[in-house]
Amino acid sequence: MPGTLFVVTAPSGAGKTTLVRGLLQRDARVQLSVSFTTRAPRAGEQNGREYHFVDLATFRALRDRGEFLEWAEVHGNYYATSKVWLKEQVAAGRDTLLEIDWQGAQQVRKAFPDAVGVFILPPSLDELEKRLRGRNTDSDDVISRRLLAARGEMRHVAEFDYVIINNELQEALEDLVAVVRAARLRYAPQHLRHPQYFDFLEQD
Ligand code: ADP
Ligand code: 5GP
Repeated sequence: MPGTLFVVTAPSGAGKTTLVRGLLQRDARVQLSVSFTTRAPRAGEQNGREYHFVDLATFRALRDRGEFLEWAEVHGNYYATSKVWLKEQVAAGRDTLLEIDWQGAQQVRKAFPDAVGVFILPPSLDELEKRLRGRNTDSDDVISRRLLAARGEMRHVAEFDYVIINNELQEALEDLVAVVRAARLRYAPQHLRHPQYFDFLEQD
């Protein structure tokens, strides 16, 4: 049975990484897709764990060879999802989550129309700024650029199936867990999971 694909998108600082980490701890059946990026690693980030960190020439070579399912320039760096790896995982029945921006989400939706889209919103733009500053990982310049972009990114919220406002962290995590659970209960995966039951219903 094919796995379910989850696409989680948010403006930088809304809490996407924190929520996804919480989900992965709660639900061992969901795995994360590790993207390629030309961005430099942040303190504590490891090559192959948070991202595959590559230089621009390598990124372009991989892209031109058709290795990416989607790619986008976000805040001055390039990001991409591996095509072969993802197709293998979904075909092998593994539920896989992509943490990508709205441009990538649009491309994934075309290739996987059944993908479940989740948009995470901050409670306000003021709170978003506080979180970006509190995270202490980016320079003032980078933070200003990300804040300027946030409103434009948030306008794409209507393209997603589910919207989670990350105000209180535990509540937002429960929401994300609930979305994953609900997605597994959709007709198509249930039909595949319980073939005898559905065969019985279809008999005269
Ligand atoms: P993103 O991955 O969307 O860029 P992060 O998960 O890195 O965002 O979160 C940005 C900052 O906000 C981090 O310092 C994180 O600990 C904090 N944060 C996340 N969710 C909440 C929340 N619900 N309330 C307060 N702070 C939060
Ligand atoms: P960060 O540099 O903070 O890790 O991520 C910046 C932005 O790039 C986030 O909006 C994140 O979702 C997006 N991003 C990360 N990986 C990918 C990817 O593989 N494809 C696309 N399109 N965006 C990505």
